[in-house]
Amino acid sequence: MSADELTRLYDWLIDAPEDAPGVAADLAVERDAALARVRELEALLGESRRSHYYCEDCWYSCPKAPYGCCDDAKGNECDCGADAWNARIASVLVTPEDTP
Ligand SMILES: [Zn+2]
Repeated sequence: MSADELTRLYDWLIDAPEDAPGVAADLAVERDAALARVRELEALLGESRRSHYYCEDCWYSCPKAPYGCCDDAKGNECDCGADAWNARIASVLVTPEDTP
């Protein structure tokens, strides 16, 4: 499911009131369950954000790790994949501002 499709589903889940014409009670129950599931998945995704790799032998740490990297040749960009992973998570979260 693309981020746009997820956004449309999320908007539908949020905006469709239980008593809206065409929204049967059983559909409303399904909607509430789906919305709860989406929120659960969003929370889980938010919690799966990664920190930058740190190693006691700072030569191997990511340049963006809290204590940096001893290998100046690595530059200042993330080389452990945390930035790419966290950007991917942010791209699929419908409401990133609401997640941890
Ligand atoms: Zn990193």
